[in-house]
Amino acid sequence: MINDKYYYRHWVIMGIITAVVILYVCRLFYLQIIEDKYRRQADSNALVHRTKYAPRGLIYDRHGQLLVFNQPAYDIVVTINEMSKTGGCARFCRDINIDWEYYVDRMSEIKNVNTNRGYSRYTPQIFMTQLRMEDIAQLQEVIHSNHPGFAIQHRTLRDYTYPNAAQVLGSIGEVSQNDIEKDDYYARGDYAGRDGLEYTYEKDLRGEKGEEILLRNSRGRIVGNYAEGKYDSEPKAGTDITLTLDIQLQILAENMLQGKIGSIVAIEPATGEILALASSPTWDPALLVGRQRSKNYNILSNDPTKPLMNRALQAQYSPGSTFKTVQACVALQLEAITPNTTYPCSGPGSAPIKCTHHHGSPVSLLNAIEQSCNPYFWLAYKNTIEKKGYGKNNKDFKAQYNRWRDCVMSFGLGHKFDDSDLYQQSRGSIPSAELYDKWYGATGWKAITIRSNSIGQGEVQITPLQIANAAATIANAGYYITPHLNKADSMLTRRHDTKVDKNYFRYVQEGMWRVFEYGTGRHHKIPGINMCGKTGTVDNNHGRPHSLFIGFAPKENPKIAVAVVVENAGYGATWAAPMASLIMEQYLTDTIARQDLKQRMVTSVTNPNVKKYQ
Ligand SMILES: [Zn+2]
Repeated sequence: MINDKYYYRHWVIMGIITAVVILYVCRLFYLQIIEDKYRRQADSNALVHRTKYAPRGLIYDRHGQLLVFNQPAYDIVVTINEMSKTGGCARFCRDINIDWEYYVDRMSEIKNVNTNRGYSRYTPQIFMTQLRMEDIAQLQEVIHSNHPGFAIQHRTLRDYTYPNAAQVLGSIGEVSQNDIEKDDYYARGDYAGRDGLEYTYEKDLRGEKGEEILLRNSRGRIVGNYAEGKYDSEPKAGTDITLTLDIQLQILAENMLQGKIGSIVAIEPATGEILALASSPTWDPALLVGRQRSKNYNILSNDPTKPLMNRALQAQYSPGSTFKTVQACVALQLEAITPNTTYPCSGPGSAPIKCTHHHGSPVSLLNAIEQSCNPYFWLAYKNTIEKKGYGKNNKDFKAQYNRWRDCVMSFGLGHKFDDSDLYQQSRGSIPSAELYDKWYGATGWKAITIRSNSIGQGEVQITPLQIANAAATIANAGYYITPHLNKADSMLTRRHDTKVDKNYFRYVQEGMWRVFEYGTGRHHKIPGINMCGKTGTVDNNHGRPHSLFIGFAPKENPKIAVAVVVENAGYGATWAAPMASLIMEQYLTDTIARQDLKQRMVTSVTNPNVKKYQ
C-alpha cells in the first residue's frame, strides 16, 4: 500500500515537471524565434513601419453647425539609409524651396538620438510637417523621381467654417518631448491639442493611430504588406463633439467687441450650457494652423493687448454695482435686512460712500437695486457683517464675515469651477477674514475698513464667467449647473445650491426687472419681453471706468443669462447694457430689430490699440 502511494505521487510530480518544462520551451521558442524574428525585422531594412494617422473628431455647435473639420495635409519624410550617397542635397533644397541652413539643422535634429528617441536610419523620419495641398502639389512628382529616400506622408490639419471662437476651440500643435514622455501614445511629429477645447478633449478628439508594416526587397522597393497585413492596424477616427455654443450668438458677441477690450459670456440658466464665450481681442483660428502657426503665435503673444488671454475665463475685475444683486440675496439670507428695510440716502453728499444717482430717500431694497444706491448697500453690508457684534478679539465679527463670504462664494464667485471643461480659469477672489487679519492685524479691521466690498469694489474680484454664472443663479432662484461647453456634459447634473433660501430671490429679480423698466437699463429694453439686469461702472487705475452688465430674460422662465465687460469704455449703461440686450434679443427672437444700435456697437472703437487678426 505504502509503496503504491509513493509510486503514484512519483508520476504526478514527474507530470507537473514535464508540463512546466514544455511550457517554458514553448515560451522560449516564442520569444526567441517568433518575437525576435519580428523585432529583428522591424529594425532591419526589410520592414517599413508607416503610421496611419486617425482623422481628428469634428466639432459642432449646439444647432449642429460644423465648426471645426479636417483638411488634408502632408509631411515630407526621409529614410536616411535610402538617400542618395552621391549628393543632390543642394538640388533638393532648391526643389522644395528651403535654405541650406534649414536642411542641415533639420538633418542633425533627426539624427540626434537624445531628442529623437525613435530614430532609425531605416525608418521614415519627419523632415517637414504640416504642408498644405498647395505647397505639395508641385513637389510630389519631383520628390518621387529625383530624391530617393524622401517621400510624402498624408496627414490632416484643422480647418474652420467661421473665423470665430478661437480661444474657445483652441489649436493643435506638434507634441513636445515632454508630451511624449508623459503619454506613450505620442511619437515625434504627432499633433495634439495645445489649448482650449482641443486640449481639454484631446483624448476623445485624437482617435487612435494605426500602423502599416510594409516589406521591402533587397533593392529597397516596397513589395507589399508584411505577413499579408497580419500585423497592420487601422486608425480609429476621433470622437465628434457637439458644443453648447450657439455660433451665431458667438459671432454677434465677437463682432460687438471689435475695437474694444472685454468679454461677453452667455449661459442657459436651466442647464449651465454656455451659449457664447467671447473675449477680445481675438483672431481667426485658421491663423494657428500649419506652417504659419509658430510665426503667428509669436505675433499674438507679443501683442500688448494680450489676445491669447481668454478674458472671459482669465481676466479678473471688480464686479462693481453688478455685485449688489448678490449682496442683496446674502443680506436677506443673513437677516440683516428684510424686503421692506429702508435706508436714507443723501445722494452725492452721503458718507462714507457717496451715491452716484439722484433719487428719493429713504430707499427700499427694490428701489436701491433699481437706482444702484451705494449708501443702501453699504448699510446693508455693514449690518450683515456686524450683526453679531465684534466680540472678544473681533471673533464674532470675523465668524459672521466668513458666513457672508461662504454665501457669496456659493454663487460660484471667487473660486474655479473644478467640475467644468473650461480651460484655464482664474479663481477670482472673495477675501477671507484670515487675509484681512494678515493685512490689518487680528483686531485692526472693521466693516468700515472693507466698505468698498459693499459696492463690488475693493478686494472682491470676479471673472466674467463667474458673474455670468451668478446672473444664471439669480435667474434660477438659488442654484446653478456648472457652466460647460460640451453638450454631452449636460447629461450630468452638477447642480450647486446656494446658501441663500430660494424665496429671497424673487425680490432681487424684481429689483433687476425695475432696472430695465425704470433704471439704468431702461433705454435697452426689448419691447414685449420682461428683462432683468444690473449695470456696473467700475473705476480702475487704467483710464476710463470698466463698463459692466449682468442680466437674464425672460423674467419668468429665463432662457439666457449674460455678462458683459468692456474695459475702459465708460458707463455700464452706455456699452455693456446695450450689448447684453442685443445678445438677449438675438437669442430670444432669432433676429435683431435694433440694427442701428447693433451697428453702433459693432463699429465703435473704445481702444484703438486692438488689432484685427484675420
Ligand atoms: Zn442713493
